[in-house]
Amino acid sequence: MKGTFPVDKFNELQTPFYYYDTKVLRETLACVNKEVAKYPNFCVHYAVKANANHDILTIIRENGLGADCVSGGEIRAAIAAGVPSDKIVFAGVGKADWEINLGLDNNIFCFNVESIPELEVINELAAAKGKVANVAFRINPNVSAHTHANITTGLAENKFGISMADMERIVELAISMDHVKFVGLHFHIGSQILDMTDFEALSHRVNELQEKLHVRGVHVEHINVGGGLGIDYKYPNENYMPSFAAYFATYAKHLKLYPHQTLHFELGRAITGQCGSLISKVLYVKQGANKQFAILDAGMTDLIRPALYQASHQIENITSEEPLEEYDVVGPICESSDVFAKGVRLNATKRGDLIALRSAGAYGEIMASQYNCRELPKAYLSDQL
Ligand SMILES: *Cc1c(COP(=O)(O)O)cnc(C)c1O
Repeated sequence: MKGTFPVDKFNELQTPFYYYDTKVLRETLACVNKEVAKYPNFCVHYAVKANANHDILTIIRENGLGADCVSGGEIRAAIAAGVPSDKIVFAGVGKADWEINLGLDNNIFCFNVESIPELEVINELAAAKGKVANVAFRINPNVSAHTHANITTGLAENKFGISMADMERIVELAISMDHVKFVGLHFHIGSQILDMTDFEALSHRVNELQEKLHVRGVHVEHINVGGGLGIDYKYPNENYMPSFAAYFATYAKHLKLYPHQTLHFELGRAITGQCGSLISKVLYVKQGANKQFAILDAGMTDLIRPALYQASHQIENITSEEPLEEYDVVGPICESSDVFAKGVRLNATKRGDLIALRSAGAYGEIMASQYNCRELPKAYLSDQL
């Protein structure tokens, strides 16, 4: 099954470009809100790094989600889209002083702190402004996620977070400081996770760590379990809605919250992944020695996931109904890794056809680069065409 696209309108636009179906985005947000409403102490932030397009962020903000930011630029993008600063959290393993100051000046909800030196800097910078910064500690839970190695973040070997053995020491250090307030624990084990038992394993680890603080009489206001819920890259039309019900139910069942605690989520890919497609034009069809290549005007500079993570996106020729033939679909960039897919079956393809690379709404447009002096891809929302 192929997606439906306004091909007539596409013909007037310069390719390549991102196309966002706002109906899919709004339906996804409605589903998140419906599922999360079942649990009064659950709260969802959107991980801005998945897609920081201003119009997309605005729709997400209109639907009430907060923002999880990993840089000063993302804090600015969230504020520009109207996200209230008390719904902004700031994570990241290397926060620069100006970024911390930006967070302090905007009175953001919380800094997710990843080391003792970072805690000391936040305490100093907050003192200079006569403020008290809310801090949560990102703990590395040493839980493995069944996903690609480059997007696993919660193993002891990864650079992220504070080791479990150091948790109590850093919490007590924070409690002794005047310009930070310890409010929570933060976790994030990876991305594109489809196996709910990974989130179950994280829940059990959180329970153990909470118990350790509880016996010391330390009160934790909120727990943040990050994001990571995956999407179906293979069947973007048949199965476009991520498993939000199963995801929230897994945490509700396995993670033990103490009275008055809130549980925060930071979903990125699951919110924006399926609403976006990269639309590209076929420049040439080239016959190789034993295969044929469809050479597109989009490349790894527009969508880097296949080159970076060996990710595969569903590819459709949206202007041909001819019988299927096999192609290697490649971009124009001077790199051997600039290949979107090998041996895929497309309706017989010719120069000028339009190709859609599906499920490209997360980690697509935002990761685009200008390598080879290319222009950045433009983006259009369905309700703007
Ligand atoms: C990337 C990231 C997320 C979002 O991950 P998704 O897989 O897109 O849901 C959430 N929290 C943190 C800290 C992140 O780094």
